[in-house]
Amino acid sequence: MPDTAAIEIRPPETLREFYGLMARTREVRARMVEQYLAGADIAPDDIRSLRNAGASLEATPRSKTDDGYEIVLDGERRITVDLTYEISEIVKDLVLLERGEDALYEHLATLYPGFTSQVDKGVAALAPHAFRALVTDRDGTVNNYCGRYLTSIQSVYNAVFLTRFARACVPHAVMLTSAPLRDGGLVDIATMPRGAFVYAGSKGREYLDQGGTYGSYPIDPAQQQMITRLNTALGELLARPGHEKFGLIGSGLQKKFGQTTIARQDITHSVPEDESRTFLHEVEDLVAALDPREQHFRIEDTGLDIEIILTVGDRGGGLKDFDKGDAVVFLDEALDLGLAEGPALVCGDTSSDVPMVAACAAKNAGSHAVFATVKQDVRDRVSRTTSRSLFVDTPDVLVVILHELSKQGGNG
Ligand SMILES: [Mg+2]
Repeated sequence: MPDTAAIEIRPPETLREFYGLMARTREVRARMVEQYLAGADIAPDDIRSLRNAGASLEATPRSKTDDGYEIVLDGERRITVDLTYEISEIVKDLVLLERGEDALYEHLATLYPGFTSQVDKGVAALAPHAFRALVTDRDGTVNNYCGRYLTSIQSVYNAVFLTRFARACVPHAVMLTSAPLRDGGLVDIATMPRGAFVYAGSKGREYLDQGGTYGSYPIDPAQQQMITRLNTALGELLARPGHEKFGLIGSGLQKKFGQTTIARQDITHSVPEDESRTFLHEVEDLVAALDPREQHFRIEDTGLDIEIILTVGDRGGGLKDFDKGDAVVFLDEALDLGLAEGPALVCGDTSSDVPMVAACAAKNAGSHAVFATVKQDVRDRVSRTTSRSLFVDTPDVLVVILHELSKQGGNG
Protein backbone atom coordinates (compact mmCIF):
# COMPACT_ATOMS: atom_id res chain seq x y z
CA MET A 1 0.00 0.00 0.00
CA PRO A 2 1.45 3.40 -0.94
CA ASP A 3 2.19 5.64 2.00
CA THR A 4 -0.26 8.52 1.82
CA ALA A 5 0.94 10.20 5.01
CA ALA A 6 1.84 13.85 4.62
CA ILE A 7 5.21 13.23 6.26
CA GLU A 8 7.31 10.52 4.66
CA ILE A 9 10.40 8.82 6.00
CA ARG A 10 13.20 11.06 4.81
CA PRO A 11 16.03 11.98 7.17
CA PRO A 12 16.64 15.74 7.17
CA GLU A 13 19.94 16.53 5.48
CA THR A 14 20.15 20.23 6.24
CA LEU A 15 19.22 22.35 9.24
CA ARG A 16 16.58 24.04 7.10
CA GLU A 17 15.00 20.64 6.33
CA PHE A 18 15.13 19.67 10.01
CA TYR A 19 13.29 22.84 11.05
CA GLY A 20 10.80 22.27 8.23
CA LEU A 21 10.14 18.69 9.35
CA MET A 22 9.53 19.76 12.95
CA ALA A 23 7.20 22.58 11.80
CA ARG A 24 5.15 19.97 9.91
CA THR A 25 4.84 17.85 13.05
CA ARG A 26 3.34 20.91 14.69
CA GLU A 27 0.55 21.04 12.10
CA VAL A 28 -0.11 17.31 12.43
CA ARG A 29 -0.07 17.46 16.20
CA ALA A 30 -2.35 20.50 16.45
CA ARG A 31 -4.89 18.58 14.40
CA MET A 32 -4.51 15.50 16.61
CA VAL A 33 -4.93 17.56 19.79
CA GLU A 34 -8.21 18.98 18.53
CA GLN A 35 -9.50 15.52 17.58
CA TYR A 36 -8.31 13.97 20.84
CA LEU A 37 -9.94 16.66 22.99
CA ALA A 38 -13.19 16.24 21.07
CA GLY A 39 -13.11 12.49 21.71
CA ALA A 40 -12.93 11.86 17.95
CA ASP A 41 -10.83 9.21 16.22
CA ILE A 42 -7.37 10.40 15.27
CA ALA A 43 -6.81 10.33 11.51
CA PRO A 44 -4.62 7.26 10.73
CA ASP A 45 -2.66 9.32 8.19
CA ASP A 46 -1.70 11.77 10.91
CA ILE A 47 -0.50 9.00 13.21
CA ARG A 48 1.54 7.59 10.33
CA SER A 49 2.95 11.06 9.63
CA LEU A 50 4.11 11.40 13.21
CA ARG A 51 5.61 7.91 13.19
CA ASN A 52 7.43 8.74 9.93
CA ALA A 53 8.74 11.97 11.41
CA GLY A 54 10.23 10.01 14.31
CA ALA A 55 11.70 7.42 11.94
CA SER A 56 13.20 10.22 9.81
CA LEU A 57 14.94 11.72 12.83
CA GLU A 58 16.22 8.33 13.99
CA ALA A 59 17.56 7.58 10.50
CA THR A 60 19.66 10.77 10.52
CA PRO A 61 23.37 9.81 10.46
CA ARG A 62 24.99 9.68 13.90
CA SER A 63 27.92 12.02 14.51
CA LYS A 64 31.40 10.48 14.56
CA THR A 65 31.72 10.88 18.30
CA ASP A 66 28.18 9.47 18.71
CA ASP A 67 27.04 12.41 20.84
CA GLY A 68 24.26 13.37 18.47
CA TYR A 69 23.21 13.47 14.84
CA GLU A 70 24.92 15.10 11.88
CA ILE A 71 23.13 17.64 9.73
CA VAL A 72 24.54 19.90 7.01
CA LEU A 73 25.04 23.48 8.19
CA ASP A 74 25.92 24.92 4.80
CA GLY A 75 27.96 23.75 1.85
CA GLU A 76 30.11 20.87 3.05
CA ARG A 77 30.19 21.74 6.71
CA ARG A 78 28.27 19.55 9.14
CA ILE A 79 26.88 20.31 12.56
CA THR A 80 26.14 17.92 15.42
CA VAL A 81 22.65 18.26 16.83
CA ASP A 82 21.09 16.66 19.88
CA LEU A 83 17.67 15.29 18.90
CA THR A 84 16.76 13.81 22.30
CA TYR A 85 13.78 16.11 22.83
CA GLU A 86 12.37 15.76 19.34
CA ILE A 87 12.61 11.97 19.24
CA SER A 88 11.50 11.18 22.82
CA GLU A 89 8.45 13.46 22.61
CA ILE A 90 7.31 11.72 19.42
CA VAL A 91 7.75 8.35 21.17
CA LYS A 92 5.53 9.53 24.06
CA ASP A 93 2.89 10.84 21.67
CA LEU A 94 2.77 7.53 19.83
CA VAL A 95 2.37 5.65 23.11
CA LEU A 96 -0.61 7.87 23.95
CA LEU A 97 -2.20 7.68 20.51
CA GLU A 98 -1.70 3.98 19.91
CA ARG A 99 -1.93 2.53 23.42
CA GLY A 100 -3.75 5.10 25.55
CA GLU A 101 -3.29 7.25 28.63
CA ASP A 102 -2.58 4.44 31.09
CA ALA A 103 0.19 3.16 28.82
CA LEU A 104 1.66 6.66 28.63
CA TYR A 105 1.67 6.96 32.43
CA GLU A 106 3.43 3.58 32.61
CA HIS A 107 5.96 4.75 30.03
CA LEU A 108 6.63 7.95 32.01
CA ALA A 109 7.02 5.90 35.20
CA THR A 110 9.84 3.97 33.52
CA LEU A 111 11.58 7.24 32.58
CA TYR A 112 11.45 8.98 35.95
CA PRO A 113 12.18 7.45 39.36
CA GLY A 114 9.45 8.28 41.85
CA PHE A 115 7.07 9.39 39.11
CA THR A 116 3.91 7.91 40.60
CA SER A 117 4.57 9.00 44.18
CA GLN A 118 5.38 12.57 43.05
CA VAL A 119 2.14 12.69 41.04
CA ASP A 120 0.08 11.34 43.97
CA LYS A 121 1.64 13.79 46.38
CA GLY A 122 1.07 16.74 44.04
CA VAL A 123 -2.55 15.86 43.37
CA ALA A 124 -3.25 15.42 47.08
CA ALA A 125 -1.70 18.81 47.88
CA LEU A 126 -3.47 20.78 45.16
CA ALA A 127 -6.85 19.08 44.82
CA PRO A 128 -8.49 20.82 47.82
CA HIS A 129 -7.84 24.27 46.33
CA ALA A 130 -9.76 26.29 43.76
CA PHE A 131 -7.47 28.48 41.69
CA ARG A 132 -8.27 31.75 40.05
CA ALA A 133 -5.55 31.33 37.46
CA LEU A 134 -2.67 29.19 36.29
CA VAL A 135 0.41 31.31 35.66
CA THR A 136 3.18 29.18 34.26
CA ASP A 137 6.56 29.32 32.61
CA ARG A 138 7.00 26.99 29.62
CA ASP A 139 10.47 25.57 29.05
CA GLY A 140 11.66 23.26 31.79
CA THR A 141 8.38 23.76 33.67
CA VAL A 142 5.41 22.42 31.73
CA ASN A 143 7.43 21.53 28.65
CA ASN A 144 10.53 19.37 28.58
CA TYR A 145 13.67 21.30 27.85
CA CYS A 146 15.02 21.49 24.30
CA GLY A 147 18.18 23.34 23.28
CA ARG A 148 16.63 24.89 20.17
CA TYR A 149 13.50 26.94 20.57
CA LEU A 150 11.83 26.41 17.22
CA THR A 151 12.04 22.62 17.24
CA SER A 152 10.65 22.32 20.78
CA ILE A 153 7.22 21.59 19.30
CA GLN A 154 4.61 20.96 21.98
CA SER A 155 3.69 17.26 22.14
CA VAL A 156 0.14 15.97 21.78
CA TYR A 157 0.00 14.54 25.31
CA ASN A 158 1.35 17.79 26.74
CA ALA A 159 -1.19 19.94 24.88
CA VAL A 160 -4.09 17.64 25.78
CA PHE A 161 -3.22 17.52 29.49
CA LEU A 162 -2.62 21.27 29.82
CA THR A 163 -5.73 22.17 27.85
CA ARG A 164 -7.89 19.88 29.97
CA PHE A 165 -6.58 21.53 33.13
CA ALA A 166 -7.08 25.02 31.72
CA ARG A 167 -10.64 24.25 30.70
CA ALA A 168 -11.73 22.34 33.81
CA CYS A 169 -9.90 24.02 36.65
CA VAL A 170 -9.17 27.73 36.12
CA PRO A 171 -10.92 30.79 34.66
CA HIS A 172 -7.57 31.96 33.24
CA ALA A 173 -4.47 30.08 32.14
CA VAL A 174 -1.39 32.10 31.23
CA MET A 175 1.84 30.80 29.73
CA LEU A 176 4.52 33.36 30.48
CA THR A 177 7.94 33.00 28.88
CA SER A 178 11.03 35.05 28.18
CA ALA A 179 11.06 33.74 24.60
CA PRO A 180 9.52 35.72 21.76
CA LEU A 181 5.75 35.58 21.33
CA ARG A 182 5.40 35.17 17.56
CA ASP A 183 7.39 35.43 14.34
CA GLY A 184 9.45 32.49 15.48
CA GLY A 185 8.11 32.37 19.01
CA LEU A 186 5.79 30.71 21.50
CA VAL A 187 2.75 30.51 19.22
CA ASP A 188 4.77 28.84 16.45
CA ILE A 189 5.56 25.79 18.57
CA ALA A 190 2.31 25.46 20.53
CA THR A 191 -0.30 22.86 19.55
CA MET A 192 -3.10 23.72 21.97
CA PRO A 193 -6.42 24.93 20.56
CA ARG A 194 -6.87 28.68 20.35
CA GLY A 195 -8.25 30.14 23.54
CA ALA A 196 -6.96 27.47 25.92
CA PHE A 197 -4.15 29.69 27.15
CA VAL A 198 -3.10 33.32 27.12
CA TYR A 199 0.36 33.37 25.55
CA ALA A 200 2.70 35.98 26.98
CA GLY A 201 6.17 36.32 25.46
CA SER A 202 9.22 38.54 25.92
CA LYS A 203 8.93 38.10 29.71
CA GLY A 204 5.27 39.01 29.51
CA ARG A 205 5.72 42.34 27.78
CA GLU A 206 3.56 41.19 24.88
CA TYR A 207 0.69 38.73 24.73
CA LEU A 208 -2.07 37.12 22.74
CA ASP A 209 -5.21 36.91 24.85
CA GLN A 210 -7.63 33.98 24.81
CA GLY A 211 -9.48 35.55 21.89
CA GLY A 212 -6.20 35.84 19.96
CA THR A 213 -5.91 39.63 20.29
CA TYR A 214 -2.40 41.07 20.55
CA GLY A 215 -1.46 43.44 23.34
CA SER A 216 1.80 44.82 24.70
CA TYR A 217 3.45 46.88 27.36
CA PRO A 218 3.24 50.55 26.38
CA ILE A 219 5.95 51.54 23.90
CA ASP A 220 6.61 54.81 22.10
CA PRO A 221 5.48 54.46 18.44
CA ALA A 222 8.77 55.96 17.23
CA GLN A 223 10.71 53.30 19.16
CA GLN A 224 8.43 50.61 17.78
CA GLN A 225 9.18 51.88 14.29
CA MET A 226 12.92 51.63 14.96
CA ILE A 227 12.51 47.99 16.06
CA THR A 228 10.52 47.21 12.93
CA ARG A 229 13.23 48.77 10.73
CA LEU A 230 15.92 46.85 12.61
CA ASN A 231 14.14 43.51 12.21
CA THR A 232 13.51 44.15 8.51
CA ALA A 233 17.18 44.97 7.93
CA LEU A 234 18.29 41.89 9.89
CA GLY A 235 15.95 39.75 7.82
CA GLU A 236 17.59 41.08 4.64
CA LEU A 237 21.06 40.43 6.05
CA LEU A 238 20.12 36.82 6.86
CA ALA A 239 18.78 36.33 3.33
CA ARG A 240 22.27 36.95 1.89
CA PRO A 241 24.18 33.89 0.64
CA GLY A 242 25.97 32.08 3.46
CA HIS A 243 24.08 33.98 6.16
CA GLU A 244 21.00 31.79 6.55
CA LYS A 245 22.77 29.61 9.12
CA PHE A 246 22.89 32.41 11.70
CA GLY A 247 19.10 32.27 11.88
CA LEU A 248 19.20 28.51 12.43
CA ILE A 249 22.04 27.77 14.86
CA GLY A 250 21.87 28.21 18.63
CA SER A 251 19.44 30.95 19.63
CA GLY A 252 18.70 31.77 15.96
CA LEU A 253 16.77 34.96 15.32
CA GLN A 254 14.49 36.00 18.18
CA LYS A 255 12.36 39.09 17.81
CA LYS A 256 11.37 39.93 21.35
CA PHE A 257 9.55 43.00 22.53
CA GLY A 258 12.20 45.70 22.86
CA GLN A 259 15.04 43.33 22.06
CA THR A 260 16.21 41.28 19.09
CA THR A 261 18.64 38.39 19.42
CA ILE A 262 20.64 36.91 16.57
CA ALA A 263 23.06 34.02 16.98
CA ARG A 264 26.57 34.29 15.60
CA GLN A 265 27.81 31.02 17.12
CA ASP A 266 26.53 27.98 18.96
CA ILE A 267 27.91 26.08 21.94
CA THR A 268 29.65 23.51 19.75
CA HIS A 269 31.28 26.32 17.69
CA SER A 270 29.80 25.16 14.42
CA VAL A 271 30.72 28.39 12.64
CA PRO A 272 34.44 29.23 12.04
CA GLU A 273 35.43 32.07 14.36
CA ASP A 274 36.51 34.49 11.57
CA GLU A 275 33.16 34.05 9.83
CA SER A 276 31.32 34.54 13.12
CA ARG A 277 33.29 37.73 13.82
CA THR A 278 32.66 39.09 10.33
CA PHE A 279 28.94 38.58 10.87
CA LEU A 280 29.13 40.46 14.18
CA HIS A 281 30.73 43.43 12.40
CA GLU A 282 28.05 43.34 9.71
CA VAL A 283 25.34 43.49 12.39
CA GLU A 284 27.17 46.34 14.16
CA ASP A 285 27.36 48.24 10.86
CA LEU A 286 23.69 47.64 10.24
CA VAL A 287 22.73 49.01 13.66
CA ALA A 288 25.08 52.00 13.25
CA ALA A 289 23.44 52.84 9.92
CA LEU A 290 19.98 52.77 11.50
CA ASP A 291 20.98 54.55 14.67
CA PRO A 292 24.08 56.68 13.92
CA ARG A 293 23.86 58.69 17.15
CA GLU A 294 23.29 55.62 19.33
CA GLN A 295 20.03 56.98 20.70
CA HIS A 296 17.92 53.87 20.36
CA PHE A 297 19.96 50.70 20.50
CA ARG A 298 22.68 49.10 22.55
CA ILE A 299 24.51 45.96 21.43
CA GLU A 300 25.60 43.23 23.81
CA ASP A 301 27.72 40.43 22.38
CA THR A 302 27.88 37.24 24.45
CA GLY A 303 30.25 35.54 22.01
CA LEU A 304 27.40 33.28 20.96
CA ASP A 305 24.52 35.73 20.61
CA ILE A 306 24.28 39.34 19.54
CA GLU A 307 21.63 41.11 21.61
CA ILE A 308 20.31 44.36 20.18
CA ILE A 309 18.44 46.10 22.96
CA LEU A 310 16.13 49.07 22.78
CA THR A 311 17.48 51.55 25.32
CA VAL A 312 14.22 53.40 25.91
CA GLY A 313 13.57 51.79 29.26
CA ASP A 314 17.03 52.33 30.67
CA ARG A 315 15.87 55.60 32.13
CA GLY A 316 12.71 55.42 34.22
CA GLY A 317 12.79 51.65 34.50
CA GLY A 318 10.63 50.43 31.63
CA LEU A 319 11.91 47.62 29.50
CA LYS A 320 15.32 46.68 30.80
CA ASP A 321 14.65 45.60 34.35
CA PHE A 322 11.21 44.22 33.69
CA ASP A 323 10.95 40.81 35.35
CA LYS A 324 8.27 38.14 35.37
CA GLY A 325 6.79 39.63 38.56
CA ASP A 326 6.26 42.93 36.74
CA ALA A 327 4.70 40.85 33.99
CA VAL A 328 2.18 39.34 36.40
CA VAL A 329 1.14 42.81 37.57
CA PHE A 330 0.93 44.08 33.99
CA LEU A 331 -1.03 41.08 32.68
CA ASP A 332 -3.40 41.02 35.66
CA GLU A 333 -4.44 44.55 34.77
CA ALA A 334 -4.36 44.25 31.00
CA LEU A 335 -6.30 40.98 30.91
CA ASP A 336 -8.48 41.44 33.97
CA LEU A 337 -7.28 38.18 35.50
CA GLY A 338 -8.62 39.11 38.93
CA LEU A 339 -5.59 37.71 40.75
CA ALA A 340 -6.60 39.49 43.94
CA GLU A 341 -9.91 37.63 43.97
CA GLY A 342 -8.48 34.17 44.36
CA PRO A 343 -5.25 32.20 44.66
CA ALA A 344 -3.10 31.57 41.63
CA LEU A 345 -1.23 28.39 40.83
CA VAL A 346 2.25 29.50 39.80
CA CYS A 347 4.62 27.12 38.03
CA GLY A 348 8.26 27.61 37.17
CA ASP A 349 11.68 25.98 37.12
CA THR A 350 14.35 28.66 37.51
CA SER A 351 15.15 31.69 39.67
CA SER A 352 13.76 34.03 37.02
CA ASP A 353 10.34 32.48 37.72
CA VAL A 354 10.42 33.25 41.46
CA PRO A 355 9.22 36.88 40.98
CA MET A 356 5.98 35.42 39.56
CA VAL A 357 5.46 33.63 42.87
CA ALA A 358 6.06 36.79 44.87
CA ALA A 359 3.77 38.86 42.65
CA CYS A 360 0.92 36.33 42.83
CA ALA A 361 1.32 35.92 46.59
CA ALA A 362 1.16 39.72 46.96
CA LYS A 363 -2.12 39.70 45.00
CA ASN A 364 -3.55 36.78 46.96
CA ALA A 365 -1.89 35.13 49.93
CA GLY A 366 -3.47 31.76 49.12
CA SER A 367 -1.44 31.38 45.92
CA HIS A 368 0.53 28.16 45.47
CA ALA A 369 3.83 27.50 43.73
CA VAL A 370 4.91 24.30 41.99
CA PHE A 371 8.46 24.17 40.71
CA ALA A 372 9.92 21.52 38.44
CA THR A 373 13.53 21.41 39.46
CA VAL A 374 15.96 19.27 41.40
CA LYS A 375 18.20 22.27 42.11
CA GLN A 376 18.24 22.87 45.85
CA ASP A 377 19.11 26.59 45.58
CA VAL A 378 16.04 27.25 43.44
CA ARG A 379 13.85 25.16 45.75
CA ASP A 380 15.17 27.15 48.72
CA ARG A 381 14.42 30.45 47.03
CA VAL A 382 10.85 29.39 46.32
CA SER A 383 10.39 28.13 49.89
CA ARG A 384 11.61 31.44 51.25
CA THR A 385 9.08 33.26 49.03
CA THR A 386 6.03 31.20 49.95
CA SER A 387 5.13 28.46 52.40
CA ARG A 388 2.65 27.08 49.89
CA SER A 389 5.19 25.39 47.69
CA LEU A 390 5.55 21.99 46.10
CA PHE A 391 8.43 20.51 44.13
CA VAL A 392 8.63 17.93 41.39
CA ASP A 393 11.64 16.63 39.50
CA THR A 394 10.55 17.15 35.94
CA PRO A 395 7.93 18.80 33.68
CA ASP A 396 6.24 15.49 32.85
CA VAL A 397 5.34 14.99 36.53
CA LEU A 398 3.80 18.47 36.65
CA VAL A 399 1.69 18.08 33.50
CA VAL A 400 0.39 14.73 34.73
CA ILE A 401 -0.53 16.31 38.10
CA LEU A 402 -2.45 19.01 36.21
CA HIS A 403 -4.12 16.35 34.08
CA GLU A 404 -5.20 14.40 37.15
CA LEU A 405 -6.61 17.59 38.70
CA SER A 406 -8.61 18.21 35.53
CA LYS A 407 -10.38 14.88 36.07
CA GLN A 408 -11.57 16.12 39.47
CA GLY A 409 -12.25 19.41 37.70
CA GLY A 410 -14.70 22.22 38.03
CA ASN A 411 -13.20 23.97 41.04
CA GLY A 412 -12.51 27.28 39.30
MG1 LIG B 1 11.99 27.72 32.29
